[in-house]
Amino acid sequence: MRYHIWTIGCQMNTADSRRLAAALEGLGGEPVARAEEADVIVLNTCVVRQQAEDKVYSRLGAVRRLKSRRPHAVVGVMGCLVGVGDQAALREQLPWVDVLMPPSDPGPLLQYLIEHGTVDQGRAVSADGHACRQALGEALLPASDRGRLVSAYVPVVLGCSHACTYCVIPYRRGPERSRPPDDILAEVRALAALQVREITLLGQIVDRYGHDRTPTLDDSTAVPTRTEPPLAGLLRQIQQVDGLERIRFLTSHPAWMTDSLLQAVAHLPKVCEQIEVPLQAGDDQVLSRMGRGYTADDYRRLVERIRKYIPGVAIATDIIVGFPGETEAQFQQSYDLLAELRLDKVHIARYSPRPHTLAARRYADDVPPSEKERRRKSLDDLQASIAADINGLLLGQTVEVLVEGRRKGRWWGRTRTGKLVFFDGERDWHGRLAAVRITWTGPWSLVGEPVSC
Ligand code: SAH
Repeated sequence: MRYHIWTIGCQMNTADSRRLAAALEGLGGEPVARAEEADVIVLNTCVVRQQAEDKVYSRLGAVRRLKSRRPHAVVGVMGCLVGVGDQAALREQLPWVDVLMPPSDPGPLLQYLIEHGTVDQGRAVSADGHACRQALGEALLPASDRGRLVSAYVPVVLGCSHACTYCVIPYRRGPERSRPPDDILAEVRALAALQVREITLLGQIVDRYGHDRTPTLDDSTAVPTRTEPPLAGLLRQIQQVDGLERIRFLTSHPAWMTDSLLQAVAHLPKVCEQIEVPLQAGDDQVLSRMGRGYTADDYRRLVERIRKYIPGVAIATDIIVGFPGETEAQFQQSYDLLAELRLDKVHIARYSPRPHTLAARRYADDVPPSEKERRRKSLDDLQASIAADINGLLLGQTVEVLVEGRRKGRWWGRTRTGKLVFFDGERDWHGRLAAVRITWTGPWSLVGEPVSC
């Protein structure tokens, strides 16, 4: 069985696709680069913004044409287009799709393949879900990543219960569910045994990890202690895993970035000096209509605290421009705050209304597309100059790079702060820590040379 997975969207989707690939290989599958050659085609989808949804539908159109030529190919659609709720409407809309899978749940496709005999008969010992469970339970990395993948994502919180007014994720991924710490630890240990050197813990609000879990007798690590937030406890446990060099986590919400979490980040040597904490807007009225639960001043103080506890930290943020009713003056607040805070990285999105969300139901999408684009470009230019200045300070300095692979004839990897570094080198640097002296800097990447072997 040859399989092909197309993935779009967030890191969670990348993690889900990797696990699905590993599970398909557990059932005897092998990957092919072109959907045209595959017996099983999967689209792992994103609908967080209209642009992503448009790409999904365009890809669905191409796969539909392919399916009409090759009716025996099994087509699965996974992720946020499917969501966790009732699938009837989507079924009706996409009758030619064989299997729909909610986000982070490859089970239905595996079950389908087993029941329809698409997988090796030897492996599909029964259709009662046993083979399916086994393939999923053992699924970590596909063969191509084993011993090769240096940095892996590990989902720790599924779903989200926060309900920011613009965001479709709670409707698509369901309520917040933290995974049991023992499962996460077992996964991290298994990944480290496969030569993974860095893991990034994922959650929509990752700093809320564990807050939704009620303690049970056999799960003492889930008990939120008075002194330590559960994420700090999890980081502390993962810190002990041999072979692992670095730990990251994203995305954080400002309200849950407690001092004790920041202290844990500062004191745990494997936890990197990098915090991703979305601001979304610099104007208090807009923040309030977004339902974010903090003010621009709160965020300002948070950045101060992060920088106080974690020297040398890199902070990344997300901003939405053109939220309903955002005036020029309100946009200017976002601009001014970013100019003041000088963060390392800013992901900028133009607002698009999403079905069911409060913002889409309550507010008109009244900032014209051209104006959204102007605001986006303006922040992009600002950030390019800030990032160029920040990175420029690294010129001549030696940084630690965890090397992830080769691109265009050069080695590439990241600093602990998440900055992309390229360098030339004769020896095999794959998966190693290199001390690299920086010889060129730009806003989005750095170039250097290894200082010693
Ligand atoms: N919980 C995650 C959300 C992931 S969505 C987080 O806090 O980062 C990633 C980003 O997409 C969000 O931070 C937001 O900036 C942007 N986004 C979400 N919904 C959007 C919408 N309707 N229009 C434009 N951008 C949106």
